[in-house]
Amino acid sequence: MSRILIIQIIAGIAGSIIAAKKGRNYFLWFLLCFIFPVSVLVILLFPPVVAKGRTKRCPFCSRVIHENAPVCKYCKKELPIDLIQCHRCGSFVPEKEYCMNCNKKLKD
Ligand SMILES: [Zn+2]
Ligand SMILES: [Zn+2]
Repeated sequence: MSRILIIQIIAGIAGSIIAAKKGRNYFLWFLLCFIFPVSVLVILLFPPVVAKGRTKRCPFCSRVIHENAPVCKYCKKELPIDLIQCHRCGSFVPEKEYCMNCNKKLKD
């Protein structure tokens, strides 16, 4: 295996991991970084986008932060937990995949 190919594969994997963390299309970024390893620097500088289940927007400073972050890393404000009503048991629970009260799946 040539040295260039190794660099391409490492760049591709690194790029896809960074892209996934930022809520971006990791497959696309794997290809981009594989073809142009310098793209890793581009995805590093790209701001994260809101992606369901991975990132959300801070209600105070409106920057994109990690979905489960208890505190915004930019403005350091504590984030309110979104409560939704469970269809089965009727209790208000944090917006997670499963109801923490009766374990019913809340999201499809
Ligand atoms: Zn914030
Ligand atoms: Zn429930």
